[in-house]
Amino acid sequence: MSQNCTLIPGDGIGPEVARATVRAVEATGTDIKWQLAELNQNIILESGKTLPQHVLDSLNETRVGLKGPVTTPIAGGFQSVNVALRKTLDLFANVRPIRTLPGIKTRFEDVRIDMVIFRENTEDLYSGLEHEIIPDVVTSLKVITRTASERIANYAFQYARKNHRKKVVAIHKANIMKLADGLFLRCCREVAERYPEVEYKELIVDNASMQLVIRPETFDILLLPNLYGDIVSDLAAGLVGGLGIVPGANMGKTHAVFEAVHGSAPDIAGQGKANPTALMLSAVMLLTHIGENAAAAKLQQSIEAVYKEGKNVTGDVGGTASTEEFTDAVVKAVKG
Ligand code: ATP
Repeated sequence: MSQNCTLIPGDGIGPEVARATVRAVEATGTDIKWQLAELNQNIILESGKTLPQHVLDSLNETRVGLKGPVTTPIAGGFQSVNVALRKTLDLFANVRPIRTLPGIKTRFEDVRIDMVIFRENTEDLYSGLEHEIIPDVVTSLKVITRTASERIANYAFQYARKNHRKKVVAIHKANIMKLADGLFLRCCREVAERYPEVEYKELIVDNASMQLVIRPETFDILLLPNLYGDIVSDLAAGLVGGLGIVPGANMGKTHAVFEAVHGSAPDIAGQGKANPTALMLSAVMLLTHIGENAAAAKLQQSIEAVYKEGKNVTGDVGGTASTEEFTDAVVKAVKG
């Protein structure tokens, strides 16, 4: 039976990597009907809405989306589309697998990195509650709730149990933010007690950052509030070869939106050199989510085969191939 999925190419390098990913998914033979939902800076500015109705309508119908990046203006302008989408659809869990790909040269030659980041996706300093009390004095509210903290902790531990992962580490700054991060930690501890087979540890975020760089292979599942999760994700991406290869999923009770960790990368947009691996691996997660396990495995193996061979990889991971040449190689591997 065919599956409807919303496709949001986004802007910057989004349309290039989305086109490449659709080609790779189609090569697996999976019957997906893509519903195109355009979303970019111009549409947002013209409609005056961060989340135009046509995007929400499509996602409410399909319940599954593949999304490219949408540029967020820095310091001013409209609210982040990503944040708005996550809040509106209550996509509370941001899941980001960080894995070594064969053939990529990193600083960790002999080390196999295989960790999964679970980032709370709806609150914390992303509440958007900022206030200029008097000129030049601003407060920004960090909101942490029991409901959201328990939800993400449960999600991470359930994943650990289901996938036979051994250790969850909760990352925090409760020595300074005693109430906010203290509540997050309390919830993590309570949930951890219900999963005695999974080892539970805690690390302060600054120490965790150092440990990640020194001993990345010792990390398994990372459980973090929103802001630390965002920052640690990019750090972790750097360990395995950069933002070009790290996928992600935004999971809620009723909807799931799959997107790369990277942003719209305006510095390389339109030049045909963006690496579509991150969105392709996000599509692997999407295929698994909709039960197309064979297609997911095939696409994953094909991407890995192209990396192992190393002839058709893009510039960000040390190669010379264009987006299209890399995609051609993946499509050939899928079909071959
Ligand atoms: P945002 O704040 O929207 O998440 P960001 O500040 O994390 O964005 P990105 O747009 O992700 O920034 O880009 C960061 C750097 O990584 C840029 O130099 C960009 O060229 C590079 N980069 C990101 N994604 C890719 C990709 N798919 N292929 C190649 N290079 C990439």
